[in-house]
Amino acid sequence: MTLLSGPFLPELRLLLGKLRPLSPMVGSSQTVNVVVGQDVDVQGQLFLGATAWGGLVSQTDPQSVSNTMNPIGALTAGTLGASEVFKLVFSGKLRGAVNALNYTLSLLDYQEIGESEPALPDCIDVDATLFGSGSIGCGFLLGTIFTPQLHGALTIVDNGRFDTKNPYKYALLDWSTAQLEPYKAAWSQQQIQRYAPDRLTARAFVGTAEAYVASLPHNYTIPLALSAVDTPDARLEIQDTLPQRILNAGIDGTLAQVSTHGFGKGPCLACLSMQVALEAWNAGPIAARTGLSPARVHQLIQRNEAMTQQDLDTIKERHLVPEEYLSSLDSFLGQPLLSFWNRVAYSEAPIQVGGSPSVLVTTAFVSAFAGVLLLAELIKQSVPELQPYRVSNSYQHQLLGIPAGGVFQYTQDARGWCLCHSTYRLAIYHEKYLTL
Ligand SMILES: [Zn+2]
Repeated sequence: MTLLSGPFLPELRLLLGKLRPLSPMVGSSQTVNVVVGQDVDVQGQLFLGATAWGGLVSQTDPQSVSNTMNPIGALTAGTLGASEVFKLVFSGKLRGAVNALNYTLSLLDYQEIGESEPALPDCIDVDATLFGSGSIGCGFLLGTIFTPQLHGALTIVDNGRFDTKNPYKYALLDWSTAQLEPYKAAWSQQQIQRYAPDRLTARAFVGTAEAYVASLPHNYTIPLALSAVDTPDARLEIQDTLPQRILNAGIDGTLAQVSTHGFGKGPCLACLSMQVALEAWNAGPIAARTGLSPARVHQLIQRNEAMTQQDLDTIKERHLVPEEYLSSLDSFLGQPLLSFWNRVAYSEAPIQVGGSPSVLVTTAFVSAFAGVLLLAELIKQSVPELQPYRVSNSYQHQLLGIPAGGVFQYTQDARGWCLCHSTYRLAIYHEKYLTL
């Protein structure tokens, strides 16, 4: 990557070397010229611009960058731009990639950028608890630091530590910090204190959502929870802390999603987790993609049985699973089918290089984009005039594709199984938030 011109480039050049050890490129290289802003004299394959709420992406013409204190549009353009560079670099090697010469996306309403955009007030009050300070959480926090209007309190809850396995998927984190393996919650709190000490009070809790609530007095309230975790179980735990409202962001391969939840009316976060889990446990799709019979898939999942050598042989013979998963299949002997399935269904983007087996490439822009979605919904939730723009109740965006109007509705669990049907929990929720 060569940074050619512009006032910010010396700093960017310095930053790049700190993100991870760089080694000289071997083999064939390709140059992608990205032009940010309306510099008509520069040649490029990709042109990026931004408004207050949206990103503009073009393969043909320079795009303008609005002079605004709302960072959502610029963060959108940056993450979408990274996805476009990824698509250009791996052109022809990505399954399911979709291209368009020009598109825009507004995070105000998840449509194309409109004629006018509402301004942000000078001061936006927040009192939120962020559960999960991993890749999505870091993307969110980076955006929070870039939003000078946000004032208030942020509590960060996470029990994990950073490490050097994959540090560049965490915005904010550099290589030397990753080597120290700090606790995610404590380190994130320090970044808020470092960059926004006069407007945000950050607290950190190193532990799970359940442990966090256990540490609070019984009459605690969580006015707004931000869910940035990566498993259905962790989402269930967050819902069971009974926040007044939850904004949730998640990723699934190269798909990013944001959703909003109350409790008792409409789908709660646990309803969503159950729905996703039930879909994943549906024997039909798993059978179709692995080559096992639906009856055998059903049996393996229902009884939580271990896969036998015969199961592995069947999967190999049918050869429906991509090569990169088949090569590690033997290590799943005696393991549950879902351990293997989760690898196949929820991995990073597989890239086919020449005739060799696919390799998996980290797509850091997906979790960064999910963090921006979370920040956009936090701002809309926190400003009364912007509340009509809150998503109802979910938006999904495939980062290897183009914006496709991915707003859709989850429904409340109709079987009565979910937490939000528990009269005990509903009574506590009512006491906490609705008694006034
Ligand atoms: Zn529910």
